[in-house]
Amino acid sequence: MMDSIAIAPDQTAKTNLIGLDLAELEETLAPLNLRSFRLGQLWQQMYRLGAPDFASMTTLAKTLRVDLAERFSLGRLEASTTEVSKDGTTKWLFKLEDGSQVETVYIPEKDRGTLCVSSQVGCTLNCRFCHTGTQMLVRNLTAAEILGQILTAKDALNDWPAPRPDRKLTNIVMMGMGEPLYNFENVKKALLTAMSDTGLGLSRRRITLSTAGVVPMIERAGSEIGVNLAISLHATNDEIRDRIVPINRKYPIEQLIQACRDYPTLNNARRITFEYVMLKDVNDLDEHAHALARMLKDIPSKINLIPFNKWPGAEFERSTDERIQRFANIMMDAGYPSPVRTPRGEDIQAACGQLKSATERKRRTKTAPAVAAD
Ligand code: SAH
Repeated sequence: MMDSIAIAPDQTAKTNLIGLDLAELEETLAPLNLRSFRLGQLWQQMYRLGAPDFASMTTLAKTLRVDLAERFSLGRLEASTTEVSKDGTTKWLFKLEDGSQVETVYIPEKDRGTLCVSSQVGCTLNCRFCHTGTQMLVRNLTAAEILGQILTAKDALNDWPAPRPDRKLTNIVMMGMGEPLYNFENVKKALLTAMSDTGLGLSRRRITLSTAGVVPMIERAGSEIGVNLAISLHATNDEIRDRIVPINRKYPIEQLIQACRDYPTLNNARRITFEYVMLKDVNDLDEHAHALARMLKDIPSKINLIPFNKWPGAEFERSTDERIQRFANIMMDAGYPSPVRTPRGEDIQAACGQLKSATERKRRTKTAPAVAAD
């Protein structure tokens, strides 16, 4: 009896090759004695051609494919649900191996297709206007789970091989669930892999990392990952920001702005995006717009105004369209590009700040930061 159990193929025991960098891949596959040329071929199959299984890797010898398939897996995520908005936005709810869930959103536009990727299950930051912060369970995603979102989305979009002029997934924004700079190493590894020339080949200019302001990690995001930076600013003084983005109590605005001034590779062609959620009567007055223009005057920046997206139990209202337009005009008059972000996928709760993967609706207590060690 026991024997038959012991020899039954155990899917979960297979080592996932997705998420390993080249050196780790080499180490993991050392028992197979592959030449570096073969490793390169495997990498291309995984990330350029998007092979969903080893059997389809026809550039590799058949015996090697069988060997690999016995011991290793290629990290696709299981979608519990897939919802498509009437505007074409797609939202996947992915179920991870430990049973926790994350959401990933694909936003097609005329000239690009952006994948909004999660970095954590839930979030510890507790921004008062954000639905994700009301989720109880929080943990960092592995590099494999971050890349898994990208690969699984590309499978679903039928978007292989990776580098093509007409690719559907052209941009990545680390703007899903979680704070990417609280999961620095895994986010870095996943994004460096996404940028690999012989793999997915996404340019760092097409990847944006958004942070609520983990000041000590901002410099490293620039020097070690080198992607575009977005800051969830949302307020122009500490009094308001302390209340709506509580991490501000730890890293106040002046420190955050200084870190932005110091961000590596900053220039006019590569600006920092400042996200600003438009909350009725909270942060949307003319005086706030003027203060914002003053505050950013020595930083190459653009402003992204985000109309507040409502969720069940939210205590805020969206600013009126006129108010948002007026705010945008003040910013434009002061010389800042200030597009208003069109809410996408609202009908499927896929818009900014609406992501949440558990049914739990209670706000997290302030006393239990699960993974917020910075
Ligand atoms: N933790 C990162 C990644 C989230 S990005 C960060 O804070 O930057 C998602 C963006 O949507 C952030 O700017 C976030 O502040 C904003 N957002 C959150 N809830 C929102 C809501 N209900 N309506 C509009 N924007 C929201």
